[in-house]
Amino acid sequence: MLQRERVAENVYSFQSDVYAQVNAGAIVGPNWAIVIDTLALPEETLEIRQFIDQELQVPVRYVINTHYHADHTWGNYLFPNATILSSTLCRELMDSRGRASLEKAKNQGTTFRQGRIILPHLTFSEGSLNLRIGKKTLTMVPLPGHSPDNIGVIIEEDRVLFAGDVFMPIPYIVDGNADEMVLSLKQIGRMGLENVVQGHGDIVLRGEVEISIKENLAYLSAIRRAVRKAGRRKYPWDLLEEIGVEECGKSRVLIGGLAEELHSRNLYALYEQLFGEPPASSDDEE
Ligand SMILES: [Zn+2]
Repeated sequence: MLQRERVAENVYSFQSDVYAQVNAGAIVGPNWAIVIDTLALPEETLEIRQFIDQELQVPVRYVINTHYHADHTWGNYLFPNATILSSTLCRELMDSRGRASLEKAKNQGTTFRQGRIILPHLTFSEGSLNLRIGKKTLTMVPLPGHSPDNIGVIIEEDRVLFAGDVFMPIPYIVDGNADEMVLSLKQIGRMGLENVVQGHGDIVLRGEVEISIKENLAYLSAIRRAVRKAGRRKYPWDLLEEIGVEECGKSRVLIGGLAEELHSRNLYALYEQLFGEPPASSDDEE
């Protein structure tokens, strides 16, 4: 069910086949392993655990959550012996919003019936945090924009970044902030990376990192222009719903065809962020 890739020596990424091409990762040392994010469905997270248990034959000592969203954290409970790490804000948001949405999900079906929110045990609120595993050094750094709590994990020796959702095939700012995302993407551009494992979608290779960042920045500028223009209309949503994702420079097939939907939500959210109210539509008044 998962696509597994070896990103560097002892570094793996796992991509979901069933939910929005979401990615998780693992870094394996001589005696134990670190998992970066869990996946959307319990079975998928169990598949990662099984691979590390049975094929690599080491226990998982740490799980790092890049941010609090369900598809990155709800599998924490499947690593009962691990210490969970995240930003301090991630812990707070999991405790409030994460718990509430898990309760909701439990009422809607059986998938998450066994699920429990396991809050991170060790958090940091400023600067960065280093973790050594074997001969590798991991650096956790804040990279907000997709969500306020997002962190990235740099594997220093390999120049690999697990970016969380601040880096996606199409930027997604509904729970975040476009200005912060611009700063985070520029920061990533200066890191000198071999690979970026995005929160969703395929791995970005060295030759593609710069152009991907440029394209994401161009997309953010395009939606900002669209929203400003719409702001001069009586019914801004009438204009915004006509502005497709392709018009803003991104293909509609990205993330398994979810791009158009994410784009539409971006426009709505950015309008609210810039003007402090939802974009009015002529449909509302019929
Ligand atoms: Zn997310």
